[in-house]
Amino acid sequence: MRQSSLFTKTLRDSPKDEVSINARLLIRGGFISKVMAGVYECMPLGLRVLNSINAIIREEMNAIGAEELHMSVLQNKDTWMKSGRWSAAKEVMYQFQDPGGRDIGLGWTHEEPLTAVAKHFISSYKDLPKAVYQIQTKFRNEPRAKSGMLRGREFLMKDLYSFHADEEDLNRYYEIVARAYEHIFGRVGLDARRTIAAGGLFSKYSDEFQVLSEVGEDTIFYCTECRYAVNIEVVSDFGLKSVCPECSGALAQGKSIEVGNIFKLGTAFSEAFDLTYVTGNGDKRPVIMASYGIGPGRVMGAVVEMRHDEKGIMWPDSIAPYSAHLIALGKEKSTHDAAEKLYAALQKSSIEVLYDDRDATAGEKFADADLLGIPYRLVVSEKTIKNREVEVKRRNEEKLNMVKLEDIPKLLLNSRFFTYA
Ligand SMILES: [Zn+2]
Repeated sequence: MRQSSLFTKTLRDSPKDEVSINARLLIRGGFISKVMAGVYECMPLGLRVLNSINAIIREEMNAIGAEELHMSVLQNKDTWMKSGRWSAAKEVMYQFQDPGGRDIGLGWTHEEPLTAVAKHFISSYKDLPKAVYQIQTKFRNEPRAKSGMLRGREFLMKDLYSFHADEEDLNRYYEIVARAYEHIFGRVGLDARRTIAAGGLFSKYSDEFQVLSEVGEDTIFYCTECRYAVNIEVVSDFGLKSVCPECSGALAQGKSIEVGNIFKLGTAFSEAFDLTYVTGNGDKRPVIMASYGIGPGRVMGAVVEMRHDEKGIMWPDSIAPYSAHLIALGKEKSTHDAAEKLYAALQKSSIEVLYDDRDATAGEKFADADLLGIPYRLVVSEKTIKNREVEVKRRNEEKLNMVKLEDIPKLLLNSRFFTYA
């Protein structure tokens, strides 16, 4: 992609109405655009990041046998009356009457409609287990929408639902999903801790995936030696003092960003919807369920919070909008010819490259490169071309390396799947 043709441009100054780092950097870089508090539009650069996050999520979900589907955003009041959440969730659910006088809600989660539709397909123990997920826009009336992509009124959500014959099978799959979540967060470059939290409908606890960060809205107790972590909401339940119950390491307290959560729902929804199955002995039993969420937009915001410096974003290779940012300096024709040639060679090797072909100063180009945070900066100038070289710099390192022109595609291909920790 030629930077001169990009739909967006970078902004020199941070938007005045944003306090969060993630929104300030993402807006300045042209990744997102603000509509109102908690509502952002995803620009082409931002969509490239989101699509990479979603691709990783899909790979991990498909690998644990979950099937992707797509539910409706418009929700029928009658369906939500069955669980009692039409009234109970009034504060968070956008509800209105359509021009025909029908009561409609916008989906903020999908337990109700999914349980309703599962009744068509689950009736025997032979139909279980099942797991389906979607990546879809959700709506949630959020009074405190000031954390940029971390807390939105309209946001992308990956929600997975699983259906089981018994508790043992539920527990088995729940652990499989927890491991898949650890893979997902690791692959997108987040150090997320599985954290014991309140709020299971079935069991007393659920699990959250928390990333330690000063800007987080949650507080967790975590072990400084192992991965043990507990949300502060349930700390008293465990009688936690200063020592980890698993390894006796020292416990610390810290703010954190919740990037995912998994819940055992048990029979709360299947009983409300009469979703049952017949056992091998002919008994009728309610299906046991669980639900599991990750917000891809929130993940994008959390990555920016965790990986930036005063100049801009530092995307991990796995979700960067482009692998390389090619910059041509100076006005000499020979330099630009060499840059064009390298641009063509990179594209031929299927390397995603953003080519800064604009008529701008070196300072402007370097500032944009730092702001956009593409993992490799490749600079071509009269000086480098003299030796048939390119100046290569990783966004998260200070060191400059001179690499032969012909070795650049190989260098990028080799490091493509490398995520720095
Ligand atoms: Zn420990």
